[in-house]
Amino acid sequence: MMNRFELPPAGLRVLVPLLALLTLLLLVSCGTTKAGDETTAPVAETTDGTTAETTAAETEPDEPAEPTFVCTVQTVGLTSPVPTNTELQKTYLAAAPKNATNYAEGKQELSRPVPIKLQWTVDFEVGESELRYFVVRVWTKTDKSDAREFIVGRSAREYLFWNACVGQKFFWNVTAVGADGSAVASAQRTFRTEDLSFRMIYVDGITNVRDLGGKATEDGGRIRQGLMYRGAELHKEGTTVLVSKAGINALRQLGIKSELDFRTETEAGVRATSVIGNSVYYRFQTLSGSKDFTSSECRSSLKKIFAILAKESSYPIYMHCMVGTDRTGLVCWLVNGLCGVSEDDLWRDYLFSNFGAIGDPRKPSKIQDNYVDKLAAASGKTYAEKVYNYLKDTVGIPTYQLDAVIRIMKAEPGTTAENYNPVEKHTHKAESEFTVIEKATSTSPGIRVKYCTVCGSYIPATIEETP
Ligand SMILES: [Zn+2]
Repeated sequence: MMNRFELPPAGLRVLVPLLALLTLLLLVSCGTTKAGDETTAPVAETTDGTTAETTAAETEPDEPAEPTFVCTVQTVGLTSPVPTNTELQKTYLAAAPKNATNYAEGKQELSRPVPIKLQWTVDFEVGESELRYFVVRVWTKTDKSDAREFIVGRSAREYLFWNACVGQKFFWNVTAVGADGSAVASAQRTFRTEDLSFRMIYVDGITNVRDLGGKATEDGGRIRQGLMYRGAELHKEGTTVLVSKAGINALRQLGIKSELDFRTETEAGVRATSVIGNSVYYRFQTLSGSKDFTSSECRSSLKKIFAILAKESSYPIYMHCMVGTDRTGLVCWLVNGLCGVSEDDLWRDYLFSNFGAIGDPRKPSKIQDNYVDKLAAASGKTYAEKVYNYLKDTVGIPTYQLDAVIRIMKAEPGTTAENYNPVEKHTHKAESEFTVIEKATSTSPGIRVKYCTVCGSYIPATIEETP
């Protein structure tokens, strides 16, 4: 049950006997064995952690104070598989692939996933007023190396966990932290998310966001999750930011390394950096001529785009145009198709944009003549081969780039397709402003904290009480 919130007290428990031992060694070396004997006794006693009898008060550490914060935290079990798609999205996914407009017509925000409700209860033995905040921890690897921590105020008994990978087993627990820094952790629990192949993403302020990953390929593989996301624009005309602060944090938590922008300069404005943060590579690459798939403008743009997608160092990528439907939809069709996603699922993915607030409904006829028919007419036994050959022979994309995209995005049969936490090791960089976790009341102080501008996690060292 060790966790890092227990480290300060545990550290102290180790430090006290260590100091005593050092003193002892020093005294022994000086030949004052009598004093040394006196120091030995409390070392043994404090090491077992239960009693701290003292015989010589002036040389002993203080008796430990009565504990002021004692409680138990119990989490509420979830029934697996836990859904991540809404009922409406599920109905669409289970239906014939081209009928999205029976369910959504691009007018409302229906694209978000279902958050996973992590709930808990707390029983206090001592010091309910000493409770300051909770830390909810979620991880997938048994060594916890991909653990994500979320801080919530003392009045919370629930945390909404968004954007989980589909078809994945998660571990979680909740830790209550008291005013003196002492922490009480719940036991760990597990749940598994439902596996319906489409991983919808909630980025506050932005519509129509989803992961390309999760989909099955026709040869029994999968598209890897957590590497390529598609969605709507994050800013417009240079300086107008459309994504909220919470949305930016969500993108940071997804570990986005590149923002790939397919808009024109008129739409995007001139911008040197991504609104996600200075550590995110902003790549402006207009996709021109996409309404005529065979035009030289379109081919030229696609060549430049695939040159970017072939670089593994660009990932995870957030790609978008304005509403993330037509230009973005074309690139996603090609990437998914190249990796072996079935034509039915390619349609489902393209038409899923109708679940976002994209303005006008998108119907299959919009792309059928433009590129669907042309790809189907290319040479090749499978659909993936047809896409590959079209991009190689007609568009002129080098095969090493096509092969690289497949290698990066496709989990071959029998290999893992989940990549829950792709954020690389880094030193947290604190935001300039605090975020209030809990407001002060007449009886308890408030809590505020700064989040990291790289990974979107709260930074423990910045936690402050406010009057
Ligand atoms: Zn960080």
